[in-house]
Amino acid sequence: MRFLEWLGDAAAVRVSGRDSSRLRIVVTLLHGNEPSGFRAVHAWLREPSEPAVDALLIIANVEAALTPPGFAHRMLPGRRDLNRCFLGPFDDPDGALAREILDAIGARKAEALIDLHNNTGHNPSYGVGIEPSPAALALVSLFGRRFVWSHLQLGALMEALPDLCSVTIEVGRSGDPRADAVALTGLHRFLGREELFEEGEGEQVAVLSMPMRVCLRPGLDLLISDDPDPAVDLTLLADLDRHNFERMETGTPIGWCRMPELPVELIDEAGHDRASEYFELDGPELRTRKPLVPIMITTDPKAAMSDCLFYVVQEAALERS
Ligand SMILES: [Zn+2]
Repeated sequence: MRFLEWLGDAAAVRVSGRDSSRLRIVVTLLHGNEPSGFRAVHAWLREPSEPAVDALLIIANVEAALTPPGFAHRMLPGRRDLNRCFLGPFDDPDGALAREILDAIGARKAEALIDLHNNTGHNPSYGVGIEPSPAALALVSLFGRRFVWSHLQLGALMEALPDLCSVTIEVGRSGDPRADAVALTGLHRFLGREELFEEGEGEQVAVLSMPMRVCLRPGLDLLISDDPDPAVDLTLLADLDRHNFERMETGTPIGWCRMPELPVELIDEAGHDRASEYFELDGPELRTRKPLVPIMITTDPKAAMSDCLFYVVQEAALERS
């Protein structure tokens, strides 16, 4: 925290490497409550280790991270989510910072960029990107074994960098020392390796496409608890997030519902609701009707009601050439 206070605002740290003809970029703290990437950069800077190539280390939303009690605000109240600002508009404080970050990244051609995040809920580390290229999978393999192929256009950093090999890495839950360790180990690999893209590097990484969103039906309310509450439309099991990235077999409980109809919708890429294919009610109990793999299950009722409960992914069959 003292280092962050000393910085005071967004910062870009440049470090010379053994091969100064190449550059790699690390972005951290786009979200002020996701400290693992920042902690990894700080720990790495304290050790005298020369990177393989030049490095540019960007520490982004220092203002949100410093706001008491510290590492508690994704963004400041009333402000925009910085990682939704990279496709413009750029005419407010968050847009202006996004523009500055893009300018710093674009000032010199880089061979790769990683953007380090934490998430909520129990998750293994995984990468998110817009294209499962061999190079992107090789970057993900420095941190984990899963790549989520996102088709969403949200204004996230990587969407604004189509010509740069870049991935978002979700290292695990904020505040979990294991997430900090994943970030630091991966950062050492990213900055220390002479070559990032040796043949076969990303072959162990499973690619999951993210076509379906599970949302609460409009107008319903939600509780996250271990016990059903008959006053609430849907009670979602409190430890549901332990299933993140795991296959849930047919009949796995999800929660309890007080109406006779399914309380959720499952929207596929074509916009069709396929909830009745994947979920069923057994009395008040909501459970899976066929096997599925959920990811990004949230245990935050506010996020679940305003956005979605979780995603259902499928293993993408990739041709590896
Ligand atoms: Zn984030």
